[in-house]
Amino acid sequence: MLRSFLLYLSERESLKNLLVSRSLGRRMAARFIAGEHLDDAVRAVRQLNSEGFDVTLDFLGESVHAAAEAENACQVYLDILDRIQAEGLCSHISIKPTQLGLALDEALAEQLLGRLAGRAAILHNFVRMDMESSAHVEGTLRVFHHLNAPRHALGVVIQSYLYRSGKDVEELVKFGARVRLVKGAYHEPSEVAFPCKADVDANFIKLMQSLLVSGEYHAIATHDPRMIAATQTFARARGLRSDQFEFQMLYGIRRQLQRKLLQQGYRVRVYVPYGKEWYAYFMRRLAERPANLLFLLRNFFRA
Ligand SMILES: Cc1cc2nc3c(=O)[nH]c(=O)nc-3n(C[C@H](O)[C@H](O)[C@H](O)COP(=O)(O)OP(=O)(O)OC[C@H]3O[C@@H](n4cnc5c(N)ncnc54)[C@H](O)[C@@H]3O)c2cc1C
Repeated sequence: MLRSFLLYLSERESLKNLLVSRSLGRRMAARFIAGEHLDDAVRAVRQLNSEGFDVTLDFLGESVHAAAEAENACQVYLDILDRIQAEGLCSHISIKPTQLGLALDEALAEQLLGRLAGRAAILHNFVRMDMESSAHVEGTLRVFHHLNAPRHALGVVIQSYLYRSGKDVEELVKFGARVRLVKGAYHEPSEVAFPCKADVDANFIKLMQSLLVSGEYHAIATHDPRMIAATQTFARARGLRSDQFEFQMLYGIRRQLQRKLLQQGYRVRVYVPYGKEWYAYFMRRLAERPANLLFLLRNFFRA
């Protein structure tokens, strides 16, 4: 219930305005967000790269209300790609399609994503289209299918909590797509998503197996030791080398586990978000583990 409540709050403007304007809010968010400026994020990427991690950078923002905002976000991402190149950083970029106007004008989002994928292809970099709530899955996959021309430069995300994902993975595998597999972070009704965590986990394992045997390079994005162990066991049984797929985890979450995987010889990519629009992202992280809320509040009142 607390998870649903926190996800409900993640869409409330009034709480957003309250939290974002207070230093309390910014201090609480700092555990999950690299900072508000690109320089902060670049510092975090350098540090992670020096420890052996790859990165994917996320300029926080979603559900823009005007075409100009989408174009602005696209320009920021073009600048990020150039900065990654100029500084020799080991980082991809991750984008929420509604940040590029998907919910406003699908053709605009497609055009902007096409621009980013084209630029990434020239720079030998990679753009990951994050997956948002179920209302946007169809549109996101449509845009992805239209644009997947420089195949090596664009990838998408599949959420194991959705009933439809088995079918989507089948299609994507035929298409030679590169997929990041996650459990799913949004509040979804039982008409579209498994309400029970055990089913989400079982589906995650099934989808992971379909992806790993496909021959493409996929990302298994989870902090769940059971999902990670299942992936390692399956990969070993199929004779896959540890550089034929990668694990991904979020900035600030289960850092010891991230390091352990690196030490075991796996590729680990850390998802590093930055920017002023951290509220919805932050609330989703609290919803994933409501104990975070108590931990953050306790630390705050102790300080
Ligand atoms: C790299 C990456 C990219 C992602 N991209 C997307 C996306 O595009 N679309 C989407 O819907 N979702 C995305 N997610 C989020 C994902 O869907 C899950 O909500 C999130 O990863 C939690 O699920 P889990 O697999 O870690 O397993 P869970 O069963 O939720 O967690 C397993 C364990 O991990 C730890 N943990 C998990 N979350 C937290 C947290 N917030 N704080 C502290 N500890 C935690 C806890 O110890 C928990 O017991 C992404 C996740 C990652 C790692």
